[in-house]
Amino acid sequence: MTLPDDPHAQVAASVVRRLRQAGFHAYLAGGCVRDLLLGRTPKDYDVVTSAPPERVQALFERTVLVGAAFGVVRVLAATEAGDVPVEVATFRTEGPYEDGRRPSSVRFADPQADVLRRDFTINGLLLDPETGQVVDWVGGLQDLERRTVRTIGDPYERLSEDRLRMLRAVRLSAELGFRLDEQTAAAIRELAADIRSVSAERVRDELGRLLTAPHRGRGLRLLEETGLLRQLLPEVAALRGTPQPEEFHPEGDVFEHTVRVLEHLRDPTITLAFGALLHDVGKPRTLEFRDRIRFPRHDEVGAAVAEQVMRRLRVSNQDTERVVALVRGHMRIKDFPHMREAKRRRLASSPEFPELVELLRADCLASHGDLTVYEWIQGWLAERAGEPLRPPRLVTGHDLIALGLQPGPAFREILDAVYTAQLEGHVRTREEALELAAREARRQAGGEDSARVEPQG
Ligand code: ATP
Ligand code: MG
Repeated sequence: MTLPDDPHAQVAASVVRRLRQAGFHAYLAGGCVRDLLLGRTPKDYDVVTSAPPERVQALFERTVLVGAAFGVVRVLAATEAGDVPVEVATFRTEGPYEDGRRPSSVRFADPQADVLRRDFTINGLLLDPETGQVVDWVGGLQDLERRTVRTIGDPYERLSEDRLRMLRAVRLSAELGFRLDEQTAAAIRELAADIRSVSAERVRDELGRLLTAPHRGRGLRLLEETGLLRQLLPEVAALRGTPQPEEFHPEGDVFEHTVRVLEHLRDPTITLAFGALLHDVGKPRTLEFRDRIRFPRHDEVGAAVAEQVMRRLRVSNQDTERVVALVRGHMRIKDFPHMREAKRRRLASSPEFPELVELLRADCLASHGDLTVYEWIQGWLAERAGEPLRPPRLVTGHDLIALGLQPGPAFREILDAVYTAQLEGHVRTREEALELAAREARRQAGGEDSARVEPQG
């Protein structure tokens, strides 16, 4: 195994060299070794060493102690590509897990003990960057070959020590496109209910990675098959077995549809992925059999469910708002070609619009496959490229005051009516806009007069 010659890899190799020159053992470890062996670009490089943290800090100029208790030091190295961090961890072993979440103590140890505390065999490989030799005490090379996620050691033991590992196993499968080892999967099925004792933040971060991973469809299926979905997102688990009219949804039930929508997204953000996961979450609650299967108002109902789910996962307010907007808007956008121009322009300048359009595309591809509306929207956008969808107002409140009107609730109505006409293209100049404003003001005054003669209470 030879290292790539990108600056990050070279810096990591030089950190290892330096530690060895000072008389310590040092290797590359964990995710970066796995990724290098798979021909993927590692996100970051981790080094393990026999040097205690204070020695690591003394050996390098710029360091940050990131996990004092765990003995992790971040070494910063300058490269042409800017500062590059390498995390250097002292070999350690973890004491017994008493709560299924955190080890009760850590002790510094030897390289083998450090490997054996790790979660999965494919994460348990060490690489000597100088010789290119891989050290494999756990059968990780074979599992890379077989494309399998398997715990190191007894799956029940390892998964009950830290229950987040159940979710990490599925997330790793979704990132790499690997299968879950059968015994590991069986242990997850048995222990799935314990995932509820893991903090919402840790669950949220893993779910976010899982849903945006290249093999996210597989990830969602594995969540369901292992029973984790029913524990974490019962609202989504309920999509399994929720029927749909076959003429619109040849793909099957709402769960099958949702898996496919996720798969059709192109490079989704976390909010788009959650939006896709939850877009039809209102369907089980609104299912009706009339002339055919219907889901009246499932977008509105689904938006409320989505908000609850996002709150439970402690997703930020901003991301929650976006996800809720996607769920709420996913039916309405299908009418886009039939909307009035002003309404289209308002919708198209909403912050969620690009993700809503991508969701529409995936939603169509995952069911009837008809992209007519999606393509119509692309054409509409292309015709307006380079012009603002919401141009500055031709008439403002100042103009209304100059016309002698009193500021009040009627103001907004007049301004809205004029702006709508402007967006529709009915009013093109300031003069026309002022004329319309005056006409609206007279009309409103007339309307108010007639309102006054109506009987009260
Ligand atoms: P990536 O950086 O691509 O997310 P990674 O495998 O490096 O993948 P990290 O979360 O950075 O993942 O963890 C680094 C290493 O630490 C892992 O490869 C794994 O060996 C180990 N590890 C991380 N979390 C756990 C855990 N909950 N239990 C046991 N080992 C873990
Ligand atoms: Mg990592």
